[in-house]
Amino acid sequence: MNQLELNLISVKAKIKSAALKTGREEEDITLVAVTKTVGAPRVNEALMLGVKDIGENRIQEAKLKFPELLKRKAGFHMIGHLQSNKVREAVKLFDFIHSVDSPGLAAEIDKEAAKNGKVMPCLIEINIGNESSKTGLKYAEVNDFLKETIKYKNIRFEGLMTVAPIAVKPEEVRPFFQKMKILFDELKTTAAGAKFKHISMGMSQDYEVAIEEGATMVRVGSAIFGARG
Ligand SMILES: *Cc1c(COP(=O)(O)O)cnc(C)c1O
Repeated sequence: MNQLELNLISVKAKIKSAALKTGREEEDITLVAVTKTVGAPRVNEALMLGVKDIGENRIQEAKLKFPELLKRKAGFHMIGHLQSNKVREAVKLFDFIHSVDSPGLAAEIDKEAAKNGKVMPCLIEINIGNESSKTGLKYAEVNDFLKETIKYKNIRFEGLMTVAPIAVKPEEVRPFFQKMKILFDELKTTAAGAKFKHISMGMSQDYEVAIEEGATMVRVGSAIFGARG
């Protein structure tokens, strides 16, 4: 077995045990393997080892890489900040957008998805740590955002996403994940959030804690592919 295979086995085992702690199964958690900076041959290796979902954060990189992948569709996730002028390409390249962070961006996605005859599944990105360095809506802004965007027919919000503050120990971010779950549960009681089903949170450092606190999607890069050069 090579390192990639060993890493995948280890990550999946940890996902499973964290899921079981919350009364869920491994299959209830979507592992998004983050392939940014990873070349197509290694991504293909991961796909052959059973990876079903991949995440990229740059349109330009995805555009060059995706045509070289064995599997051309299924779970291609846009996880990085998306500029309005890249939406046209994003809607064509990806199956899921995690990082919707403004009503203007939602409007643009709706427009492009309509042109492509599809309904784009999306998540609302939350800046849960209120960090000035990060994109995402503030906790208090989400309700207004949903009210403003509920009219769009070609974008479907399936839940929330966050990038937690950088911490030395995973335990330090647990309160942020708990806050995300509270927000998610609150929004689920509203008309616009009634169909929410996903919380995308947790990366290589903290995905187990994130799952314990209710994540349904984890975005794991370096724990699978090794440190990015
Ligand atoms: C890079 C990235 C990840 C994965 O980070 P790792 O620490 O390598 O697991 C997850 N989410 C986003 C938004 C990223 O940009």
